[in-house]
Amino acid sequence: MQTIDRLTKHLAVYEYLPRREYELYKSGKLPIRIIDWRLIRADEAFIQRYGTTLINDWYFGGPSEMCGYRPWDCDVGANYSAHRHGRASDKHPKKTTWHEIAKDVIWQPDIFLKMGFAVVENTDKTLGWFHLEVGQQNKNTLQIVNP
Ligand SMILES: [Zn+2]
Repeated sequence: MQTIDRLTKHLAVYEYLPRREYELYKSGKLPIRIIDWRLIRADEAFIQRYGTTLINDWYFGGPSEMCGYRPWDCDVGANYSAHRHGRASDKHPKKTTWHEIAKDVIWQPDIFLKMGFAVVENTDKTLGWFHLEVGQQNKNTLQIVNP
């Protein structure tokens, strides 16, 4: 089965999947729709605004493997985390400083709503990265949750 890695101009499948799930994807056993397309679109908008940003970097030899989709048997994070539904990613910005983006989260949350995000983890608890997720929530503002 022919599979593609590239999802958008800046994002590829291996940035969302751990190594095991990536291999399942490559062998045709795991559908790419396991990752919510709204998340991919919103992450692409994030990168277009803030520049190069890493999610998983294992494909490039780095340590991060559980920053995108998390399988149900993975012991990283909460049991009902949006990561397990393919609706959240932990983004590590490389071009724009974490501090600058954190200021936008606090003072201009509409930027992230327009990108398509619904929820952000409290940035006081995510120093160095941003957990942003798509999905439903009951507010017209970016909802801040504690990890
Ligand atoms: Zn997260």
